[in-house]
Amino acid sequence: MALVPTMGSLHEGHKALVVEATSQADRSVVSVFVNPLQFGPGEDFERYPRSLLDDETFLGDTVVDVIFAPSVVVMYPEGLAAAPTQSAGAVGDSYEGASRPGHFDGVLTVVATLFDYVGPDVAVFGCKDAQQLFVVQQMVQKQGLPVRVIEVDTIRDDDGLALSSRNIFLTEADRVHAREIPRALAAAEKAPGLSQAAGVVKDILENAPGVTVDYVDVVDPVSFLPLSDGVSTGAGRLILAATVGNVRLIDNRLLHFGQ
Ligand code: AMP
Repeated sequence: MALVPTMGSLHEGHKALVVEATSQADRSVVSVFVNPLQFGPGEDFERYPRSLLDDETFLGDTVVDVIFAPSVVVMYPEGLAAAPTQSAGAVGDSYEGASRPGHFDGVLTVVATLFDYVGPDVAVFGCKDAQQLFVVQQMVQKQGLPVRVIEVDTIRDDDGLALSSRNIFLTEADRVHAREIPRALAAAEKAPGLSQAAGVVKDILENAPGVTVDYVDVVDPVSFLPLSDGVSTGAGRLILAATVGNVRLIDNRLLHFGQ
């Protein structure tokens, strides 16, 4: 049995996860749940797009056995304050976790709860949310959960922008501005070395109209810790978050230098 956890408002990125799930297991479950525990005060929980009927139609031509779309009460019968909390540890406090305190604890809590409900053998996650993928893998490993985590590459629109349910909030002008993000990620490949890659991306985005950078950094793909200064060869994952219009976008790219 394979599980694909989502927050709905499904797009081709989610579909790629579902296709992978159906190729890895006899049965597949797609969960659709906008998890209040992973949103902070003042974040977009209320306005997050919800479209279950469209999601069902969208998945119509894939071989999904169950769409599991529980209510908050089903997921957290004791109430949100009493939900059994998972901790994402130190990596959960950096980058996305620094900007969104408690976000990854909420993510892990919902993922662990979904694992309990569904009992999957495999669970499929997107590399688009690289830090999320990392903390989920870490939880599975540390707690010895009997689930194999499978990752799927980021699916992008024709202009390079990573598909995201939040992209519907981009205006036409925002959308043009947002294209600088994949352009900057591509430019990182041409940096003189790994240690210069974040600087190249930051320069492009800080000079891009309509884009406000939150963070840009290169992390060790194995530990998700920042690479030491001066490391110029090897593999690193360039990660970034930026706001365009009133939409917070994240993206990343795996880089290899000199190997
Ligand atoms: P979400 O509904 O945004 O919580 O995402 C559910 C799952 O879909 C997560 O594992 C995401 O990493 C994955 N996902 C979201 N966008 C993409 C994308 N553009 N390409 C591949 N996977 C994605």
